Amino acid sequence: MSSPSATLARHPPTLPGTSREGMAQALERLSTAAQSTPLQAQDYESTMATMEYMQACRDSAPHDISLFLNLPPSIDQPCWLYEFVRLTVRDLGFLLVALASECDAQTCPKMQATESWMFLCAQHGKQPKTCTAMDYALHTITACSISLNSQQHFPNRLTIPASSVDQLGNMCRRLYRIFAHAYCHHRETFDREERATFLTRRFVSFVLHFKLMNQSQLMPPIELPE
Ligand SMILES: [Zn+2]
Ligand SMILES: [Zn+2]
Repeated sequence: MSSPSATLARHPPTLPGTSREGMAQALERLSTAAQSTPLQAQDYESTMATMEYMQACRDSAPHDISLFLNLPPSIDQPCWLYEFVRLTVRDLGFLLVALASECDAQTCPKMQATESWMFLCAQHGKQPKTCTAMDYALHTITACSISLNSQQHFPNRLTIPASSVDQLGNMCRRLYRIFAHAYCHHRETFDREERATFLTRRFVSFVLHFKLMNQSQLMPPIELPE
């Protein structure tokens, strides 16, 4: 099995100006990278069990957020948080596919959520820069995938260092902006996807419950129907 870093090295992250075809390829690469973390043999069974359990929660009862908020007793909380962020990054790829036909350099040349919130992309070295909303989203989830596969921060998916939980919080803050953009600028598609997946509701409930983010960081706020 090739390592994720090798996979991503062969396919460097997409750069500003990515075409729709390039985006589809990038999403495919992300999916591959997210699934190809090398595991120690002894870790495989329980790591996969956590991931598979979480996916089963999502697939069997996507509306039942409590399944995600109630930590299974056999799973360490940092591992639960890690797998959740990993799953969210993958699921966000599907939201981006849904947005691809209406979110581009013409419609959304900057990453905004209303006129009041404009976000600079941090994935271009030391100097944050303006990316289109779609490029911002792609660059962010690519960067999150690389971080989640980082041997430095996450050497073992069964033992997540406390210091690395902060990394998960940082990722969530950037990922939230993608939800906020979709909510503020593509409401019809956002609502349709949300009705089917409960992705945003699950994310917001989870990050607040497990204190990966606080309410003041959820800006601009997303109002979901009860
Ligand atoms: Zn857009
Ligand atoms: Zn960027």
